[in-house]
Amino acid sequence: MITASPAARLSPPASDWRTLWRDAITDPRELLEAVALGHLADRLPPGDAGFSLRVPRGFVARMLTGTPDDPLLLQVLPQLAELDQVAGFSVDAVGDMHARSAQGVLHKYEGRALLIASGSCAINCRYCFRRHFPYGDEMAAAGQWRKALEHVRQDASITELILSGGDPLALATSKLEELSRGLADIPHVTRLRIHTRLPVVLPQRIDEAFTQWLTALPLQKVVVLHANHANEFDADVDAACARLRGAGATLLNQAVLLRGINDQPEILEALSERLFAAGVLPYYLHQLDRVQGAAHFEVDDARALALVEAVRHRLPGYLVPKLVREVGGEPSKRPL
Ligand SMILES: *Cc1c(COP(=O)(O)O)cnc(C)c1O
Ligand code: SF4
Repeated sequence: MITASPAARLSPPASDWRTLWRDAITDPRELLEAVALGHLADRLPPGDAGFSLRVPRGFVARMLTGTPDDPLLLQVLPQLAELDQVAGFSVDAVGDMHARSAQGVLHKYEGRALLIASGSCAINCRYCFRRHFPYGDEMAAAGQWRKALEHVRQDASITELILSGGDPLALATSKLEELSRGLADIPHVTRLRIHTRLPVVLPQRIDEAFTQWLTALPLQKVVVLHANHANEFDADVDAACARLRGAGATLLNQAVLLRGINDQPEILEALSERLFAAGVLPYYLHQLDRVQGAAHFEVDDARALALVEAVRHRLPGYLVPKLVREVGGEPSKRPL
């Protein structure tokens, strides 16, 4: 029988997000035990497959116990398949990692500049390019932002600034305040977009101080979440989304198409419905970046197209995400 994991019943009291961040599970054996799968420990790869495990306890509480193919567990648990060397899957799949870490700002698409505000994440997703670039918080180090903002200031064609990472909300709210002060005298930037998985994996991050900062920001605001499965939502995530909307943000979601996790029409449909229930519209469904160690998550393009087609037949158009792939050197994400 499937029951909610014991951690769910011991829901922690409202707590400082930094404490919850530090309290994440980092030991694969502890994670398996928390979801009543301790007997599977001998299937773990040796030495975490080159990318450490990290998952906040609140996210673990949303996993089903005794369920080896739980869609949340599979996003974070190190697997032996990660050790396979597969042709076409490389360390730098999109070809801009060095540009990312060196400059802190990526200006590849017209009108939008993307700032690597922080390299940290509260969760380590196994399919992510970060597995090969476990950079810390040096992006936000002194001087880096000033250079990035200088680039934005010099180019009046940039109307939207995107905070990305890693996860930009890994930064203290006081750092975000610094950034918004830097934006105050750049009138051509009219929109701030934040790409973040934190409202989903550590919803306590959307606390009073952050909400006040966002509310006071004199720009249009877009928050693009990252959830791949309806089970990632619970009442705390709904509350975080409500606070973001209350602060004036438009909420969108990007998901990654992942084999064995969300590659069924019913699952994608349930994700769209759950997003909308939380006040979030689906935006992109990404084909996997071909990073080494993630090949077992790939869904081929023909199946991906058929999946989205099936979703299109069942849901209103506004609940159908755009299926895209990121291709280095192109002027936008490439629709499939
Ligand atoms: C994905 C991305 C964007 C945002 O693209 P949208 O299609 O506007 O969501 C902007 N800059 C870079 C470098 C990106 O990779
Ligand atoms: S950048 Fe996003 S996908 Fe990658 S580890 Fe962080 S939260 Fe996960």
